Amino acid sequence: MDFSQAQGKKILIVGGGTAGWMAANLIAKSWQGLGVQVSLIESPEIGIIGVGEGSTPQLKGFMDYLGIAEQDWMPACHASYKVGIRFDGWSTKPGFSSYFHPFAAQPDDYTASAFFYNSYVRRQGVDVEGHPDHFFLATYLAQQQLAPLPSENFPFEINYGYHFDSSKLGIYLAQHAATLGVTHLTGTIEQIEMAVNGDIAAVVTQDGRRLAADIFIDCTGFRAMLMQQLNAPFIRFADNLFNDSAVVVQTPHDGPLMSQTVSTAMQHGWRWTIPLTHRHGNGYVFSSAFCSPEQAELEFRQSLGLVNSEVNCRHLKMNVGRLEQHWIRNCVAVGLSQGFIEPLEATALHLVQETVQAFIEQYQQGGFTVSRAAQFNQSVNARFEAIRNYIVAHYRVNSRTDTEYWRANANNNRISPSLYEVLKTWISGKDLSQELERQQIDQYYPTMSWHCLLAGYGLYPEQHQLKPGNEMAHKYKLEDIQNFIRRCGLNFRDRR
Ligand SMILES: Cc1cc2nc3c(=O)[nH]c(=O)nc-3n(C[C@H](O)[C@H](O)[C@H](O)COP(=O)(O)OP(=O)(O)OC[C@H]3O[C@@H](n4cnc5c(N)ncnc54)[C@H](O)[C@@H]3O)c2cc1C
Repeated sequence: MDFSQAQGKKILIVGGGTAGWMAANLIAKSWQGLGVQVSLIESPEIGIIGVGEGSTPQLKGFMDYLGIAEQDWMPACHASYKVGIRFDGWSTKPGFSSYFHPFAAQPDDYTASAFFYNSYVRRQGVDVEGHPDHFFLATYLAQQQLAPLPSENFPFEINYGYHFDSSKLGIYLAQHAATLGVTHLTGTIEQIEMAVNGDIAAVVTQDGRRLAADIFIDCTGFRAMLMQQLNAPFIRFADNLFNDSAVVVQTPHDGPLMSQTVSTAMQHGWRWTIPLTHRHGNGYVFSSAFCSPEQAELEFRQSLGLVNSEVNCRHLKMNVGRLEQHWIRNCVAVGLSQGFIEPLEATALHLVQETVQAFIEQYQQGGFTVSRAAQFNQSVNARFEAIRNYIVAHYRVNSRTDTEYWRANANNNRISPSLYEVLKTWISGKDLSQELERQQIDQYYPTMSWHCLLAGYGLYPEQHQLKPGNEMAHKYKLEDIQNFIRRCGLNFRDRR
């Protein structure tokens, strides 16, 4: 591979939240030995957002790439294992009030086809088991509160993510970045100096320090300070993602440690429960168009049994959408500065990682060119839009009718053509995997995830419409599948 474009470059990352430190580590590691100088500046006055405590399996790849062992970082960040997300109360269909979105595991190869088949047959009107919770190993592990670490005699790959204390993760990654030679600066950037060619030449701190660099990484969070200077247009997702606010609180817990995130539907949004080894993180994500912050906090406190508690809840605003371009000339936006899709599937750090990796790959091939940046922007945007579609699907197929919020979501026809085709394929009883492949979107959310979502909400003909079906329709025996999963499960134990 040609690394010549990165050779000897000065890189300045502005912002020391999780995005800034992930970018610092990935860049310093990837361009080690090329004389690349990586510095990160963060403001002592402007804090980090301090939420974002659930990941996808991508984070394991990030840690593995950096050579960071779980035994080292997990205790330092009070981290726990995550095998997926449980969605409680999003559907009112009988038998479907809860379902689990599992991360994939290799033994699923034996059971997923049975689920896809059954969900297909049920959509044709035959009464076979179509609830996703019966078919996946990760679901079983979550139900049994088991960590996804099998014994040595179980040689199958199990994908998993983590829950962690986001402030502690930032500190940990800052220390690791120092071992890779990253310079850590503090100061608040007040001014941005432009070069005549339209590049950023330097940033200037409040106390008058001028920091020049070849490449600037904007990790300033929702402020998107450098991108604002470059007049990068922002596309809002408000037409189909209504949530723009959150209220959060931490609570102690002393029960068994869950290996799943729980997402519980509320009156005007949903509430997460994220289990860390020493506490739970909780947050209610809601739409301010449908309820006030005070109303949301009251409902949140009631759900957590905190109505009479002195504990303070923190309120946050969310800027939901994305930049039109994430790489402009010598500046790349990473993290909340490049956009945010609400945290229902905990995808933000996944996007950080993918963005930085894609930038490294593109840049080292030949630096900034209009076409290279355009290709990069197109691929980051495709990922954003694919995740957006999957999240929007949750809202669109919900069957709650208790509040205007849920009714407005279920009746919202402002969905993308891509999502429209996915839903049409499912509802008309056609092959969903084929449609995802046709659209080339199964690389973002695999067919298993889409099947789990649509089946998990009970998007099937009504029970009274279902027929018994012939022998062929019942070719998979649920007892055999459950027996197989249970026996796989014997290889796992409860590990923190
Ligand atoms: C309610 C909510 C829930 C979330 N849940 C999840 C989740 O479960 N999983 C997930 O992956 N993500 C989640 N996220 C997203 C996640 O929190 C962020 O992606 C992640 O924390 C990275 O944030 P950041 O580093 O981009 O920004 P920030 O944490 O806001 O950091 C910004 C940095 O920029 C610096 N800065 C700003 N202005 C200046 C300046 N002028 N000069 C110098 N420095 C400056 C600040 O000092 C700070 O260091 C959630 C977000 C929200 C809002």
